[in-house]
Amino acid sequence: MSGKSDDYKKFIAAKDPTIDGSLDQEDAEAAALLGQVEEEKRAAEADMEMSLFDGVRTSSGSPVQPVRLTGGNSFCFSCHKGVSCWNECCHGTDITLTPFDILRLSNHLNIRPAEFLTRFTLPATMDASGLPVAKLRMAEEEGRRPCVFLHDEDGCSVYEARPASCRYYPLGFATVKMKGHEAVEDFYFLVREPHCQGHNETKEQTVDQFRAEQGVDNDDMLNRGWLDILMKMASWKTLGGPWGKEADARTKKMFFLATTDVDAFRRFVFETKFLETYAIEPEAIEVLRTDDAALLQLGFDWMKNVLFNEPTINMKENVLHGAIARARNDISGGAS
Ligand code: SF4
Ligand code: SF4
Repeated sequence: MSGKSDDYKKFIAAKDPTIDGSLDQEDAEAAALLGQVEEEKRAAEADMEMSLFDGVRTSSGSPVQPVRLTGGNSFCFSCHKGVSCWNECCHGTDITLTPFDILRLSNHLNIRPAEFLTRFTLPATMDASGLPVAKLRMAEEEGRRPCVFLHDEDGCSVYEARPASCRYYPLGFATVKMKGHEAVEDFYFLVREPHCQGHNETKEQTVDQFRAEQGVDNDDMLNRGWLDILMKMASWKTLGGPWGKEADARTKKMFFLATTDVDAFRRFVFETKFLETYAIEPEAIEVLRTDDAALLQLGFDWMKNVLFNEPTINMKENVLHGAIARARNDISGGAS
C-alpha cells in the first residue's frame, strides 16, 4: 500500500510561500508575525507519554510489567492453538482500530469502510487525545463478550487482517513527545496477564523479531500521521487543546471521517471546494481518486494543518493571501 502513498507525497506541492518571494513584503511580515505567535504558544505545550495499545485485556490486577523495552530487548512468549488459554484474550477487550486496520479489515471482508464501521465497531473518544476513534465491537449478548470476529474452535476469523492491537499483544506500544520537540519516540512494554499462558513458553525473541513476525512494521509506518496527531493532541490537552482551544465538534467530526471512512472523505475532497483551496498536483489528484491508502495520508496531512497549522498541505496562493489578510486584521484588531 505504501507505493501509491509515496506517489501522493511526491506530488504534493512542497514550497514554502514565505521564503520563495511569492508574497509581498507586507504579507511576509504578517506571516512571520503569525509564526512568532504560534511559536510562543507552542512553548506552552506539555511533555507527554501516551499508550496507543496498552496491551491490557482484562481489568483484574495490574498486569503491566513497568519495563520499557526497545526493539533489541528479548522476551519469552509464544501463542499457538495448543495453549490452555486459547482465545481467552479475545473476550471483553478494548481495541482501538487504526485507520489502516479499518481499511484492511474492510478489504478482507469485501465491504466498504462505512458498512464495516456500522457492523463491527462502536464510536468512542480516546481519553488521552480527546479525539474520536472507532473501537472493535464485542458481542453484547454473552457474559464473556467475545470479539465479533472470534470463531470458537478456529480462533480469529480475520486473522490475516487482524488489527494492530491484536498483532502487538502481549506487547504494549507507547509513544513519547517532549515539549518543544517535533519528533516522537516509540517504545514498548510487556504485559503479563494471569490468564495468558504464552509467557510460559520457551520461545525467545527480540521485540523487533516479534513485530516483524506479526507484520506491524508496515502498519506503524502507514499509521504514523494518525499517531502523530493523537500524540500532539494529547500533549496539548493540559492546555485545553491546541493553543488552549479545544477542537470544535465539526473538526472532530472531520477527523473521524478522514481517518475511518475513505469513501466519505473522498467525496469531501472531490465534491467540495477542497481542491480549489489546496495546492495538490494533478498527478496526485489522479492517485487520490482510486487509492485509499494515499487518501488516508492526505487526510492525516490535512488534519495536521487544520489542528496544528503544520505546513503539511499548502493553500493555493490566492486563498493564502486572503487568509493572511484576514489574520492580519484579526491580529491588529486583537491588539487594539
Ligand atoms: S480481531 Fe481476532 S485476534 Fe483480535 S480480538 Fe478479535 S478474534 Fe481476537
Ligand atoms: S497465549 Fe495469550 S495471546 Fe495466546 S491465546 Fe492465550 S491469552 Fe491469548
